[in-house]
Amino acid sequence: MENTHSEVWENCLRIIRDNISYQKFKTWFEPIKPVKLEDNVLTIQVPSQFFYEWLEEHYITLLKKTIKNELGSNGRLEYSIVMDGSYDNANDPYTVTAPTGNKKALKNPDVSMPIDLNQGKSKEIPNPFIIPGLKKINVQSQLIENYSFDNFVEGDCNRLARSAGYAVAQNPGKTAFNPLFIYSATGLGKTHLVHAIGIEVKNNFPDKTVLYVTTEQFMHQFVDAVRNNNHNDFIHFYQMIDVLIIDDIHGLAGKEKTQNVFFHIFNHLHQKGKQLIITSDKPPVELKGMEQRLLSRFKWGLAADLQIPDFDTRMGIIKKKLYNDGVEMPADVIEYLAYSISTNVRELEGAMVSILAQSTLNKKAINLDLARQMIDKFVKNTSKEISIDFIQKIVCDYFNLPVDMINSKTRKREIVQARQLAMFFAKKHTKSSLATIGLHCGNKDHATVLHACRTVINLIETDKQFRNYVEDLEKKIKI
Ligand code: ADP
Ligand code: MG
Repeated sequence: MENTHSEVWENCLRIIRDNISYQKFKTWFEPIKPVKLEDNVLTIQVPSQFFYEWLEEHYITLLKKTIKNELGSNGRLEYSIVMDGSYDNANDPYTVTAPTGNKKALKNPDVSMPIDLNQGKSKEIPNPFIIPGLKKINVQSQLIENYSFDNFVEGDCNRLARSAGYAVAQNPGKTAFNPLFIYSATGLGKTHLVHAIGIEVKNNFPDKTVLYVTTEQFMHQFVDAVRNNNHNDFIHFYQMIDVLIIDDIHGLAGKEKTQNVFFHIFNHLHQKGKQLIITSDKPPVELKGMEQRLLSRFKWGLAADLQIPDFDTRMGIIKKKLYNDGVEMPADVIEYLAYSISTNVRELEGAMVSILAQSTLNKKAINLDLARQMIDKFVKNTSKEISIDFIQKIVCDYFNLPVDMINSKTRKREIVQARQLAMFFAKKHTKSSLATIGLHCGNKDHATVLHACRTVINLIETDKQFRNYVEDLEKKIKI
């Protein structure tokens, strides 16, 4: 009997899994869905154009080999690409297919939308931003040197956005990621990353005009331009940029006139093959108060998010910063910092700076005590959040278990108990849902977490020693 598409893909995955690291497998192969198998052509669905290009660039040899292995020498692979990010939507109208090795066959189907540039545009109007006789315009890029790729620590939390940004910087306007739309909660590195892209473009192409502006600045400039009656100059100025980086676009919510003008600038630049890089606190679909036609353009390229960095990345960020500043901190203090502040890199840096400042000003040694005091002080002001990671660390340290064990499959009694306690405290002290807690404690479902909480409550009532554990732990978690 013939194998189905799922079976064929499963077999391919088995080979692929043995040939690349687990992390890469998880990032680049788990999200793929086999769709169909017809005439020896296996179609797989990938979440984005970027994803497709990445596979073609990095895994084409491996993919070819496995397909040949499974389907024989005339076996072929086709990609089905979900263009608007609604990956799970089976009725997605923007699914296109392309044979492997033929990148050019791909075109974003949404790009052919009519672009209207009817804004009172007159070529004769002189532009005060242009130096007469010169083609080049005098633009201060407003890039912050420190916010470079070198200083941006890579982790699973930012891998997609970072590599897309890097790709854009090698080839501005020429990749499928136009616009490149980067979104995340505050303090997770959006501004840093877009500066890094701008700096890298400048390094690669010194002649290109790069401009970083905040949405706030853009709005002010626009209001001034209208007031001073040089609205067209404003538009022309922006239309001459090669790489336009606009930060915190959510600030345009409800500002119809500025949205309108940005829409025209966007169209002009995009049509001319110039690069747009946009950041926001939400993905395009969730942005409120924004014109539909603008939102639809934000979806043309790639929308990539920055997530909360995992423990190792947080350690990496602290170490990099210390190294750059030429200062040292004991390893246990660094660890403590990385465990205690997990949801915001800006806060992490803030706490670090205040520990260093305290130690210099008051000639105190940097040790755990000082770190605890400072974090208490620092994080109190900014709503201290106890993280699941932190709870796991406290519980495991208490029972002398390696933290990894909580995430393992093992059913050893002491580990099950530690896992249940971590779940119980996570429910009590964090705002995370049962499902999220489960996910972070050994990939369990919400029912398991609920069961764990009940078990802990029962044991507190019936087992004196257990109650002591819980009380001790409670104190440690709340230091
Ligand atoms: P956002 O714009 O998302 O609010 P920022 O880009 O301002 O966040 O980042 C806040 C701080 O955290 C900055 O000082 C930035 O350098 C730092 N930061 C964030 N992510 C990273 C990272 N991956 N590596 C190094 N520093 C980072
Ligand atoms: Mg920012």
